[in-house]
Amino acid sequence: MKKQSAASTEDPNYRLENKYLMTHTSRLEISRSAYRKNIRFIRNQIGSSPIISAVIKGNAYGHGIENIVPIAEEAGIRHFSAFSTDEARRVKNSSRKGSQIMIMGMLHTEDLPWIIENEISFYCFEFDRLKQAIQQAKVMNKVARIHIEVETGFHRTGFEWQEKEALAKLLLNNAEHIQLSGLCTHFAGAESIANYLRVKKQIEQYHTFKNWFVENEINFASYHTACSAASLSFPETIMDMVRIGIVQYGFWPSQETYMSKFPELAAGKKNPLKRLISWKSSIMSIKEVAMGQFVGYGTTYMAPRKMKIALVPIGYCHGFSRMLSNLGRVLINGKRVPVVGNVTMNSISIDVTDLKGVQKGDEVVIIGKQKSNEITVASFSETTQQVNYELLTRLPSDIPRQIVY
Ligand SMILES: *Cc1c(COP(=O)(O)O)cnc(C)c1O
Repeated sequence: MKKQSAASTEDPNYRLENKYLMTHTSRLEISRSAYRKNIRFIRNQIGSSPIISAVIKGNAYGHGIENIVPIAEEAGIRHFSAFSTDEARRVKNSSRKGSQIMIMGMLHTEDLPWIIENEISFYCFEFDRLKQAIQQAKVMNKVARIHIEVETGFHRTGFEWQEKEALAKLLLNNAEHIQLSGLCTHFAGAESIANYLRVKKQIEQYHTFKNWFVENEINFASYHTACSAASLSFPETIMDMVRIGIVQYGFWPSQETYMSKFPELAAGKKNPLKRLISWKSSIMSIKEVAMGQFVGYGTTYMAPRKMKIALVPIGYCHGFSRMLSNLGRVLINGKRVPVVGNVTMNSISIDVTDLKGVQKGDEVVIIGKQKSNEITVASFSETTQQVNYELLTRLPSDIPRQIVY
């Protein structure tokens, strides 16, 4: 296959895709225009000044870091949030000069020289890491760009209230080797009203910290707390920067967040978020099964009539959950057709008895649109209790991704 454009040759996944697209059993399409629409929506919600940091942890929520970074940059994003150093490296290798990278979670002490050298900012939520960062910055005669994460009630990571004096002292004493890039926290479930009081308390505690630092003449370059759900449901959490994950990929953080926004959406009430991802495969073979015969492993499905069964070469090793045995649906010839029998490692069996003219090689849509029908990621979640976040990130990174309009 020929490379598609000059820009695409710089993208490692394009090479992967071109080389392997024909040999894989399925592919993921990723829509550039959908991404732009989602960013437009979030920009509309947050106003013109806050920085949007695109959260690309979990292989960009399954979309592929190397795919999303250039698409995001085209849409005006210049700030990326990774969980760990390996992800930050992948952003670095696929981003334009001048884009900023932030690590919110794991880094090894051995990673610090690379991080500091490349001016990547990172969370400090404990003294150990902060001291190591200062030490390394001194050795290199450079500046470590840090975000101080404070404990406001999430109880995962963050400096405690009673640690603030010692923290302030360390920051002031080493001012020449640290840049105070941010003061941050993360909310414990802003996507559900059940957590309303807890989140409200967190917001209050964050401001208590913020004011204390200001009073003690410690000023941060940016203040940031909001994820997607907080940006949509708690507008007071929108400060200098928002860290947007799920919404940029076209999904609501929860059904509840969507419902709470519904009344204020534009006339026509169309969902403003557009799914980027489509997952497609094709029929590998078709066979007839006589009435009374079992289909696939075990005895979970017995043919109630003479049937036509299509085998589709994707299975639980590709992220199509075994929980979808006898429950899942795919689209063939524009029709919604059921998975029959157990999902196996590499394949599913589909009942195509009532489809006219179905043939080996016909396109199968596992996620996405075909003619007037659509299967969304959410419709999976309803049958398996998996949330969007989990299903997306379980899509194996080696399924070829293809960027489409
Ligand atoms: C994952 C994450 C986000 C983004 O969350 P979404 O719900 O996907 O918007 C923001 N901040 C932190 C610290 C995170 O870990």
